[in-house]
Amino acid sequence: MPAPLQTIASSPNLPEQADVVVIGGGIVGVWAAYYLARRGLSVALVEKGQVGAEQSSRNWGWCRQQNRDARELPMATKSLDLWERFAAESGEDTGFSRCGLLYLSNDDQELAGWARWRDFARTVGVTTHMLNGAEAAERGRATGRPWKGGVFSPSDGIADPARAAPAVARAIMKLGGTVHQGCAARGLETGGGRVCGVVTERGTIRTKLVVLAGGAWASSFCHQIGVRFPLASIRSSILSVGPSPTGLPDALHTAAVSVTRRGDGGHTLAISGRGRVDPTMQQIRFAPQFMPMFTRRWRSLMPGGLEGMRSGHETLRRWRLDRPTPMERVRVLDPTPDRSTIRLTHERAMALLPGLKGAPITAAWGGYIDSTPDGVPAIGEVGSLPGLILAAGFSGHGFGIGPGAGHLIADLVTDQAPIVDPKPYHPDRFAGFSAGKVADF
Ligand SMILES: Cc1cc2nc3c(=O)[nH]c(=O)nc-3n(C[C@H](O)[C@H](O)[C@H](O)COP(=O)(O)OP(=O)(O)OC[C@H]3O[C@@H](n4cnc5c(N)ncnc54)[C@H](O)[C@@H]3O)c2cc1C
Repeated sequence: MPAPLQTIASSPNLPEQADVVVIGGGIVGVWAAYYLARRGLSVALVEKGQVGAEQSSRNWGWCRQQNRDARELPMATKSLDLWERFAAESGEDTGFSRCGLLYLSNDDQELAGWARWRDFARTVGVTTHMLNGAEAAERGRATGRPWKGGVFSPSDGIADPARAAPAVARAIMKLGGTVHQGCAARGLETGGGRVCGVVTERGTIRTKLVVLAGGAWASSFCHQIGVRFPLASIRSSILSVGPSPTGLPDALHTAAVSVTRRGDGGHTLAISGRGRVDPTMQQIRFAPQFMPMFTRRWRSLMPGGLEGMRSGHETLRRWRLDRPTPMERVRVLDPTPDRSTIRLTHERAMALLPGLKGAPITAAWGGYIDSTPDGVPAIGEVGSLPGLILAAGFSGHGFGIGPGAGHLIADLVTDQAPIVDPKPYHPDRFAGFSAGKVADF
């Protein structure tokens, strides 16, 4: 049972030329193409499988500022405004609402960490409320148990992962952009030291600007064109249950389990941070750069299996542009969910929220989360290849900050004042084997 996802029709014909070609129809690619099309550029988006079918439909749907690293917080704040504006702007519905996010805890250290973040957030104008025991019990009454404290972040929200990327893709087409599903980009053509075309399985599109928003595939694609981009993915496993009685929080995080209302009235259940590491040649290649991240997060990670090798998204093999590539063999990266995690998540959610009891399991799925060594996305033009704008490595945060990332990409391409300072995201920060400062949350 894969993650639910709306389907959309593709544009009829692949153009021979475009101002910008976006590779990848996940949430980052569609938002980038949308803001580019709004500026009057001709945009073609190519997606090897189905729009939204990888990470962008497999996530919880949280669009949050709460606990964001200082480098990402400005983009998170801007993104929430963009999510909100989109429905009126486009006539499309992503299921976004500013419902607020609720965090509950009985752990003094965790509460102290949230309080520190609240103090920092205040300095940049973001308001979040620490809850005392009585307030936490009141907001968390659906749990029917006492809590030492918590946080409520009223300006955060959720969108519907089953609807969001398809909705933005439809908006691109309304603006005159084209969207091509089942169309893998195999590689790039270069001339005069810069990008001059994208070779797809259906022909070449001439262009001077390419946005590579290929999620977990971005590093192996870069490898083909001689660009070194350290990326590693973790297999996360989550499930959804059918509609249950009202009165449950829209979005609740606890250390044991997190629960989010879905657009269909059901809920997504997940354990934050838990995942399996499926070793690949790419991970071995970049292991030294990921040591600081691994040292920080190893407690919630478990060894995986051969699934990562088999799916080919982190291959170091070179492929030819006139033959089918690993991206055509695996149209949708659909890793097997980890059974023990699914069982544990379900048990914990039933124990946390008695109101969920009796709600049938509707789906369970895995998703590879692509991460950079510092947990902050790579967004910007690659120094060694003018015309190539990288936008990948969203490290488990890309759904919420997708609109801000897409807007920033459009700003960079059209040379307009950037919506946020682009420096913390520049991909060249990983040159020289640097790992950078690992994101705080
Ligand atoms: C279980 C889970 C929970 C998460 N929860 C949250 C959350 O609550 N909030 C949040 O903000 N983030 C969350 N995330 C992270 C978020 O989903 C990702 O950061 C985000 O979706 C990344 O978007 P993307 O567009 O970069 O990648 P993807 O959605 O993976 O899209 C990349 C696309 O590129 C395509 N592609 C790749 N190579 C090619 C090629 N050569 N040619 C054509 N197409 C290509 C792929 O087919 C794919 O569709 C979660 C992720 C997971 C897995």
